[in-house]
Amino acid sequence: MHAQTQTELETLSHYINGERVAGTNGRFGDIFNPATGEVQRQVPYASADELDAAVQAAKAAFPAWSAMPALRRARCMFRLKALLEEHQDELAAILTNEHGKVFDDARGEVQRGLEVVEFACGAPQLLKGEYSDTVGTGVDSYSLRQPLGVVAGISPFNFPTMVPLWMIPMALICGNTFVLKPSERNPSASMLLADLIAQAGVPAGVFNVVHGDREAVDAILAHPDIAAISFVGSTPIAKKIAEVGTANGKRVQALGGAKNHMIVMPDAPIGAAADALIGSAFGAAGERCMAISVAVAVGDEVADELVAELAPRVRALKIGPGMTEGVEMGPLITAEHRAKVSAYVDSGVEAGADLVVDGRAFSEPNNPDGFFLGGCLFDKVAPGMKIYEEEIFGPVLCVVRAASYAEAVELVNRHVFGNGVAIFTREGDAARDFVQHIQAGMVGVNIPIPVPMAFHSFGGWKQSLFGDHHIYGPEGIRFYTRLKTVTQRWHSGIKEGADFHFPQLG
Ligand code: NAD
Repeated sequence: MHAQTQTELETLSHYINGERVAGTNGRFGDIFNPATGEVQRQVPYASADELDAAVQAAKAAFPAWSAMPALRRARCMFRLKALLEEHQDELAAILTNEHGKVFDDARGEVQRGLEVVEFACGAPQLLKGEYSDTVGTGVDSYSLRQPLGVVAGISPFNFPTMVPLWMIPMALICGNTFVLKPSERNPSASMLLADLIAQAGVPAGVFNVVHGDREAVDAILAHPDIAAISFVGSTPIAKKIAEVGTANGKRVQALGGAKNHMIVMPDAPIGAAADALIGSAFGAAGERCMAISVAVAVGDEVADELVAELAPRVRALKIGPGMTEGVEMGPLITAEHRAKVSAYVDSGVEAGADLVVDGRAFSEPNNPDGFFLGGCLFDKVAPGMKIYEEEIFGPVLCVVRAASYAEAVELVNRHVFGNGVAIFTREGDAARDFVQHIQAGMVGVNIPIPVPMAFHSFGGWKQSLFGDHHIYGPEGIRFYTRLKTVTQRWHSGIKEGADFHFPQLG
């Protein structure tokens, strides 16, 4: 962050009430191309006043948008789905350019976001209430789900399109209006999203984008007209959002960090398990909240075999810029993050883990200033080591050895995070026991990244989620609406005279 000096660089605007609005706070951040290390544009950091302008636009748009029949809001989602398909490659290229992930992976990210839009197309069905006829003589009762008002979304750098799309379609079809504060590291995709949402027929003011850092987030937390906050990011910030947001009377869902384990049983096909681990640990350079970062091998024999299968695959990873054909893993998001991940690897060596593949010295020949790091593989990692306890969020896979299935499960259940988890086995009994007893929100059986489909809901347990609602799917509808229950009687059923008993209708 610095004062605006590089005027030759493009500077993003906020998107408020259907218009691009230049930042006036005087604070800007750099947006890098992680593959080259170059600053390519800048983003304004909003003040509380700029945030307030977006909230006022959303507040003014709320009465008409919330009164619109759900079917008409759904029609906007049908159009948005078509527009996202049309612009999928354009969005994916923006993601690769500002995040660094491989182009095909970026297309996949857009696809998973688009599926939430598809789910939202069913708005009239999703918002149906319940009706009980004749709960008393001449009395009927029914329930409605009504929107909350202005809601805010705060998103992380690692999914600049998918995570906002976990929130926006769900909030909008329920009749809310929205202010998005995207990650300041890669905010350009949210501007294209804003254009597409407008083209889909969503009126001005219903969806707004305010860029920024902590100052903008603190303004969201303090704003009296924001009814709810959806947050996705790291655990310390998620916790702060949940604590301050709820203390300020807001409904909050705050999804945090992860340390996802995959248990490899003695009967698992080891080659297939190794392939699954490579994809899920090193895809997007490990910058996924559902990345598997810990493999728990049950028995030393399995561990030896697994490490022997993994090591050559890690060494063979094709690392380079995400737009280059055939590349499997791109750079990390910033130079600081690469240094942080590298320091974790140092700490693992110091703690006595066995560094089987060391990617710290990797340099991409055509892009020596890019934020690349080679894949790293540790064996003999143990609880208590920093590399086991903390989220690294980089291309580092840790193998932990457990003596038995029971010990492996206990390890997972003791960990502070509980986002995703997986087991690789051919044995139905073990898989069933695992599903029943594992302490995590999203479970994979022979599936390494069990991200729920849009018609289920996404969310972890323990320090991976603060709040009562998972995100998108049926839980998303519950989060973005509040229940109203009506008990009604018409004139023919009304008796004369006051009744001082507590009402009994049945
Ligand atoms: P982050 O917590 O640094 O940032 C997330 C958002 O919070 C950003 O918009 C950022 O501007 C804002 N922010 C950062 N510091 C703040 C502060 N001090 N006060 C107020 N706001 C602040 O996370 P990140 O580095 O962008 O994303 C990576 C993290 O997100 C990882 O921990 C990853 O596991 C997590 N994540 C979780 C999920 C999930 O579904 N559970 C999904 C994606 C990412």
